[in-house]
Amino acid sequence: MFLFTSTKRFYITLLFLLIAVTIPIQAAAGAYSEYGPVEIAGMVLLYAAIGLIFIIPEIVYSLTKTEKLLKRYEVNKDARPQIQRQERARNGELTPRKINAKCRCATFSGRKGGSYRATLKSCTCPDFKERKAPCKHMYYLMDQIERSDSRE
Ligand SMILES: [Zn+2]
Repeated sequence: MFLFTSTKRFYITLLFLLIAVTIPIQAAAGAYSEYGPVEIAGMVLLYAAIGLIFIIPEIVYSLTKTEKLLKRYEVNKDARPQIQRQERARNGELTPRKINAKCRCATFSGRKGGSYRATLKSCTCPDFKERKAPCKHMYYLMDQIERSDSRE
């Protein structure tokens, strides 16, 4: 399973891990001669730990059930406006450009030519921005993820 939904976080982690790896190499080449092996090992662990902290939210996100992610919004999903959004998501009104069930993200074409990027945490569409509640894009994405999960 590919755990990194956000490439930025992934790159930050990678950067810190690379620094961690280069420390013993530099030490072997004569750098950090004022430090002992324990201190050098500590530096390696410190950089590796900082790097890993950045992907923890991504790992948690990828392991959390889709339903639960949407539930954190305090909206009653059975309320009429929310049901309408779920119906719109299922009625083929949306124009998905890219759906990635693994990274749990999707891109949709907007009506006015722009595009919206949705995850189960947020969406860039005006509806979500205004209400901070799951929009039709997020419901659509959730359906797609659940469908792909049930196929595995
Ligand atoms: Zn949206």
